[in-house]
Amino acid sequence: MRQVPIRNHTLGTLAVLLAIVACGPVGVQPTTETRDPHRSLLQEPAATEPPADLVAGPKLPHLCLTEITPEAIPVTSANRPTGSVGGNPQSAVSMRDKRWEPGDTIRVKFITPVDPAMRIKIELNANRVALHANLNFNFVDNGKAEIRVAVTASGNSSSKIGTDCKKSIDTSPEVSTMEFGWFDASTDDTEYKRVVMHEFMHAIGFIHEQAHPEGGIPWNKDQVYKDYARDQGWDAAKVDEQVFKIAERGSTNFASYDKDSIMQYAIPAEHVTDPAFAVGSNAALSKLDKVYLKLWYPPKDKTTAFLAEGAAISLKCLGTVPGNRWLDGVTQENKVVLSPETGGYYTGTRWQVHRRGGDDINLECLGTVPGNKWLDGVTQENKVVLSPTFTGFYTGTKWRVHREGQGKAITLECLGTVPGNKWLDGVTQDNRVWLAPTTTGFYTGTRWEVN
Ligand SMILES: [Zn+2]
Repeated sequence: MRQVPIRNHTLGTLAVLLAIVACGPVGVQPTTETRDPHRSLLQEPAATEPPADLVAGPKLPHLCLTEITPEAIPVTSANRPTGSVGGNPQSAVSMRDKRWEPGDTIRVKFITPVDPAMRIKIELNANRVALHANLNFNFVDNGKAEIRVAVTASGNSSSKIGTDCKKSIDTSPEVSTMEFGWFDASTDDTEYKRVVMHEFMHAIGFIHEQAHPEGGIPWNKDQVYKDYARDQGWDAAKVDEQVFKIAERGSTNFASYDKDSIMQYAIPAEHVTDPAFAVGSNAALSKLDKVYLKLWYPPKDKTTAFLAEGAAISLKCLGTVPGNRWLDGVTQENKVVLSPETGGYYTGTRWQVHRRGGDDINLECLGTVPGNKWLDGVTQENKVVLSPTFTGFYTGTKWRVHREGQGKAITLECLGTVPGNKWLDGVTQDNRVWLAPTTTGFYTGTRWEVN
């Protein structure tokens, strides 16, 4: 049977879907040629290389044995996948519970010797990912690092997923979380781009696009089983687990399947029944990859810049049920309610912003009647009150601002240290304010517009 030139490609970057990274080479060890897909895709074959259809080597070079099943997370109203963030489309599939905090600086360290030129290419391409996300990769030479990179000749490339990287920072500080297994002096720049960006996408929470819950890839299973058995030594059960299994919906964020995503590995035409699903070598971030990176890690300055230090604001509850709207501190009673307007008598509807670093703030009520001033979430009782100070005991006076969409809508997360509900919620039908357990579904009053 004729083999398409893509044969050597690709599943080379098939890395771990979850924490399990300890995957060694499987089955036939690839030759130098089979390790580098772009030698066949992007360059003229060397004169000594036989025509593709005469090559008896493996069609699928080397695959990591990955654990594809995401950790079981019960689907609740809080984490039910919506298919969108801020109403915008998503493409890539990401693990909900493995996202870094937007703005994080993630340290990266090589734990194996690395050629200086190779190191530059890896850093350059890691930063091509960071460019589209509000994250920084800080390459360090000493000390601890969340991402530990091993450059090897094992034939495997892989990465832990998202914040799984940092779970082992103290227990295994010198064990790799990311591996590049086939870079050498002959590796071209496109291959660096393809593989490095792919692995750093894993490291910030993305999984393979072919695991998309709605990918609907029409596998030609017989052919896949055959090729994987020959090249990897995998039986059908292992192929089912490693190749065909899709991610659990409740653990992932996703929208429409994006075959151009850098997280989609190549699919030889003979592995699908509909040639439209064949995929070449995606060596760049797709348009939707970039959109998604920005949504998943939004720029910090755009998140809360409109809440300037010292600004006097009013907060309008966006709950869908009719009723009063304005967050109002009743200073004479240390209560917080919803009031019908901001003017006149309702001086407690004005609040002063005190920034506490990052997106964290205190809100001081500007009501003119003497009394407590500081908006305080009493998490153990799901109550919201006014407290006399924002220090010490009153940890619930610190709130984290989350921007919702592109306008001035926010949610406010109480950072009180006692377990309990967290989200400032206006119950418009009762004109009362409390802490809700989540911002989704029923709890529409957790969205507030800054005025
Ligand atoms: Zn991968």
